[in-house]
Amino acid sequence: MRIRDSKAMVPTGKYSKEDLIKEEALRLGFSAIGIAKAEPIPDEIKEAYTKQVVSGKYGNMEYLRRNEHLRFDPTELLEGCKSIICLAMNYYPPLKQDKEAPQVAYYAYGRDYHKVVKKRSDKLLKFIRENIDKDVIGRSFADSAPILERYWAVKSGIGFRGKSGMIILPRKGTFFVLGELLITTELKPDKPNTFECGKCTKCIDNCPAKAIDEDGFDATKCLSYLTIEQSDELNDTQAGQLGNRLYGCDTCQKVCPHNRFAQATKETEFMPNKLLFDLSFENLKHLDEQQYIKIFAGTSVKRAGYKGLMRTARALLKKRNKKD
Ligand code: SF4
Ligand code: SF4
Repeated sequence: MRIRDSKAMVPTGKYSKEDLIKEEALRLGFSAIGIAKAEPIPDEIKEAYTKQVVSGKYGNMEYLRRNEHLRFDPTELLEGCKSIICLAMNYYPPLKQDKEAPQVAYYAYGRDYHKVVKKRSDKLLKFIRENIDKDVIGRSFADSAPILERYWAVKSGIGFRGKSGMIILPRKGTFFVLGELLITTELKPDKPNTFECGKCTKCIDNCPAKAIDEDGFDATKCLSYLTIEQSDELNDTQAGQLGNRLYGCDTCQKVCPHNRFAQATKETEFMPNKLLFDLSFENLKHLDEQQYIKIFAGTSVKRAGYKGLMRTARALLKKRNKKD
């Protein structure tokens, strides 16, 4: 698709401005893009969110309790915001760790997605400014602002929410990170995605921590939360559920039938550091901070930090010692 005369700023001919933005997003490496009208979140969604937070099922993630006015109205995040462009980027790795090694969640194999997605979304904003609307004001987010990203992903049509809580992209699966570009340009919104999981219960049946049921997801039981967000030592029950998971957990995604469509990412930023494939339980015993930096620098693993990673490592190693 050819870019319009940038002086005209308003596309003419058979391609709409929405077509041009979508084409550019794909060129920039996004796998899916959808547009939603920026407006306050409906009351029933606000109530459901508040109920989850109050119930404690989101765990000790204090930030989820803050800035509700921003979370419930995107125009508070960006004055004059008219459209929310939702973006998804594939991180499904082309190479995987040995199953017997201490496991790291796939999204943390490569470069920290927060930076990758935000940078790419900023490029999309630049494109819009240069080709569509010279006066556009925008803000890019990648899990970096109080915004209900899964609500907007559904509303913009890029995916539907599975029972596991993950956004499922039709015929693509769940191994995607999400981003949002809020802009002051008015765009034609896409239709929301109305698919559902139906009778499938694979994620519920296979979750090692019983963190999912038909009513939703309990972060306080989830191994991803326990190995990344929580700072307390893991108790014996939690350690028993870990299997060999060191950082995060992909089980509910691995069993999801929609991931039969998963394709290895071509995104160079998400290519794993080769040193990750040398990580074994034997060298985990002696992993010092320098080695940790060599393997995980620039990845999302820094969220847990060396101390957090070693806390999970201690639980894993203690469990293995008991078995020996
Ligand atoms: S990430 Fe793992 S522990 Fe958490 S809900 Fe999914 S399967 Fe369960
Ligand atoms: S495993 Fe089944 S129930 Fe769970 S998210 Fe995937 S389709 Fe939905």
